Amino acid sequence: MDSPESPRHVSRSFNNSENDAELVLQSSDNVYFYVHKWPLAKSSAVFKDMLSIGDRYPHSAGETEDEQGLPIVEMTETSATLKALLRFIYPCPNPTISRFEHLSSITDAAFKYDIATVLKAVRMLLQESQFMDSQPLRVYAIAKRYDFRDVEKAAIRQCYGINPASDPSLLSFPEMEYLSARDLHRLLIYRRARANDAIDIVRSIEVSRIQRCQRCQTYGCIWWPYFVRLVSEQLRERPISRTLSRALNSVISYISNNPNSPTCPNFRNDILRNDKLITNLQTLIDALPWEYEYPYDNSNGLCHSTLEEGEGGVEQILTTITAMFS
Ligand SMILES: [Zn+2]
Repeated sequence: MDSPESPRHVSRSFNNSENDAELVLQSSDNVYFYVHKWPLAKSSAVFKDMLSIGDRYPHSAGETEDEQGLPIVEMTETSATLKALLRFIYPCPNPTISRFEHLSSITDAAFKYDIATVLKAVRMLLQESQFMDSQPLRVYAIAKRYDFRDVEKAAIRQCYGINPASDPSLLSFPEMEYLSARDLHRLLIYRRARANDAIDIVRSIEVSRIQRCQRCQTYGCIWWPYFVRLVSEQLRERPISRTLSRALNSVISYISNNPNSPTCPNFRNDILRNDKLITNLQTLIDALPWEYEYPYDNSNGLCHSTLEEGEGGVEQILTTITAMFS
């Protein structure tokens, strides 16, 4: 905490330039924001209550004022969070949010003060690719905490594209504590179910649906058996349609770089000739469900008895989940 002697700053954007501010919000890092009652009261019932109490008891004991006699309200939020919050509330362009930590603390504050416009804005921001693509589990954690179902659904989809087993750092972020072991176990169950479905789709293709190689006259030439084996492995980690393109690239480089593999000089052309088949498989995988039945909902099964929500710290959950994913 800052002591009363620590230097104070006045926000550059909310500096009472019109000399009509009605109160001062003081951030946790000691920045003064000169604000008006109406936008605050209009945006949030919590603010409205806070302000109406101030009106009824104008000079309560211990209340501080600035040099001009304006009441100072001490806030627990940092100046960065407060500034963003006020920019969402005031009729001015919305702030640009580029860091996850910033977005996360704004979400916390928006929820705490129940500011509908800011909650709406953060729900949209959370779904933007800069946050969703790189850290879908983190988005999932925030969505679970605040019950943003639309964001949660989008994050679940994106989580299929990451593999925490090969990169445990994906499980290491501050919002991890919002997730219960059950939340993570649910993702694992979904992933396994979707992977099984996707692998079934690839393996159940009849050989006759594959174009016959114009050179070696084999269905699927030499590449198809490699492809099925490799794509099955990769779909276990990432059960999404893009995995097929990745697996094909791996097959091409494997055959090209492995002098011991059986070869056909036409195999690359043959892969191209089967382009429609691959697209077809991808369409079928895209059509698979994104959410599956989770056996431990509303039951006294494994998760309730052994992985109770909130049990253990983040470290314990991390260990459990890393083991589950590997
Ligand atoms: Zn061939």
